[in-house]
This record gives sequence, structure tokens and C-alpha cells, in this order.
Amino acid sequence: MNIKELQHFSYNFSVTEPMPVLFIGHGSPMNAIEENEFVNMWRSIGKSIPKPNAILCVSAHWETRGTYLTAMEKPTTIHDFGGFPKALFDVQYPALGSPELAKETQHIIKSTEVSLDYKWGLDHGSWSVIKAFFPNAEIPVIQMSLDYTQSPQRHYEIAQELTSLRKKGILIIGSGNLVHNLGLIAWDKMNTDNYAYEWATEANTKMKQFILANDHNSLINFRSQGKAFDLAIPSAEHYLPLLYALALKTPNEKVRFFNDKAVAGSISMTSLMIEKP
Ligand code: ZN
Repeated sequence: MNIKELQHFSYNFSVTEPMPVLFIGHGSPMNAIEENEFVNMWRSIGKSIPKPNAILCVSAHWETRGTYLTAMEKPTTIHDFGGFPKALFDVQYPALGSPELAKETQHIIKSTEVSLDYKWGLDHGSWSVIKAFFPNAEIPVIQMSLDYTQSPQRHYEIAQELTSLRKKGILIIGSGNLVHNLGLIAWDKMNTDNYAYEWATEANTKMKQFILANDHNSLINFRSQGKAFDLAIPSAEHYLPLLYALALKTPNEKVRFFNDKAVAGSISMTSLMIEKP
């Protein structure tokens, strides 16, 4: 082992029980400043889980050619949206980054080259959710990008390589939406509780069935699941973070769903926690 390799093994995250893994349906960026049942649930989840040493978030809103990890000391709060009130643009989430975790994660992923990033920061897929979990921003956060050149199967395999982080107190969060079709949003039903198109309910229900049956192959092969899935997943970026969470599940762990509701017909907020039985 040379000095460079020795350095890789020197990172000092304490050994813990495996941390739970989360997939969060993040929905509208407005959840960052609104009071609603989804945000309330995020708050109570934040209080119910062991305090992590750091967070690694795979957000739908960071797609790159190649896989990247944010590695700066102080990630900026990115307001990666338009047409929202100034109050949303005023939000800052000053969590520190963790160059140590970025380097350790880079080291444990063997099957693809992973690069460190010093330009991105925290996009709203991360901060709008993590802000509710940890309002004091005391937990360091890094993001891992979605490499748009990789197949769903490869995303799943890359995620599996993150397994050891769970025992180092790292909370891994996939942030997206199971059903996410912005083009078909029912704007006139924005305020109708749990309003879903039939295909959205069908896709969301089938996804949950596959998840509970540990049938990850069917979820990886989402393009073979018919029209409801095609409508629910017009592009993969909001769905793929689910595969990152599921890839970390051991067969005996259980899945707990929460925020299992639809918004405006074509979005589902359905979220899950993977935890010990
Ligand atoms: Zn989004």
C-alpha cells in the first residue's frame, strides 16, 4: 500500500449501526418555504432517525456526463428554478460540505470513474428537503450526480457500491419523484387533495408493489412496464434516485412509505425509508 492509498483509509467517520436510507419525493420547490403535510413529515423523519455524521444526496436536479461528487468545503445554495417568489430565492442552506466524504466515496466506487466537483453546490432537490430534516444545517452534505450516459442497471450497480457508507453514519438520500410528468400537470387541480390521473395511480401502485416484493429488476426495467410507467417517467432523472435508495436495501430490511399522495394529477410525493426490521 502506498502513501496515497493509506491516506484513503484515514478518514475518520465513526462506525455505526447501518443508517436508514431515504427516497424522498420532493415535488415543488415551494415545499422549502410552505407549511404542509409533506414538510411536516420530513420534519418528523429528521427527528426520528439517528443523527448522521454526514449526508450524501443523489438529486434529480444534477445530471452530468460522468459521475461527480461535490467536494467543496462550503457548497452554495443553488436556486435552480424560475418563476417562484423572491422568498424562495432568499433561502440559504448553509450546511458545510465534506471533502473527506467526497474523497472516501470516490475511492469506494470502483466500477466507474468518479470525479470531484468544486462548482456545483446544493440544488433544490437537496436543500429544499434536507432543510426540513435538519433546520440548523449542522450536518455536512455532499451531492452525487446522475451520469446521464449510464443505464438504469448501471445506476443501480453504482449505488450498491455505496453500501459501506451506511455503517459510517452516512445518511444516503435519493431525491426525485416516482411519478413526475410536468407536461401533464393539472394546474386547475393544484389544491385538490391527492388528485391523480388514473395512469399516475396505476404506476405509483405498481411501483410500490415491486418495491415491497423486492422486485428491483422490474423497477430497473421501467421502460418495459407499459404505458402508465411511460407517462409517469417521461424522462428518468426524477425516477433514478429511487434506484439509488433501493440498491442499498438488504433483503431483510423493511420499507416504510410516507407522503404517499399525488399532487396536481401527474406528480406523486410517495417517499420511503429503508430501515432494519
Ligand atoms: Zn424536482
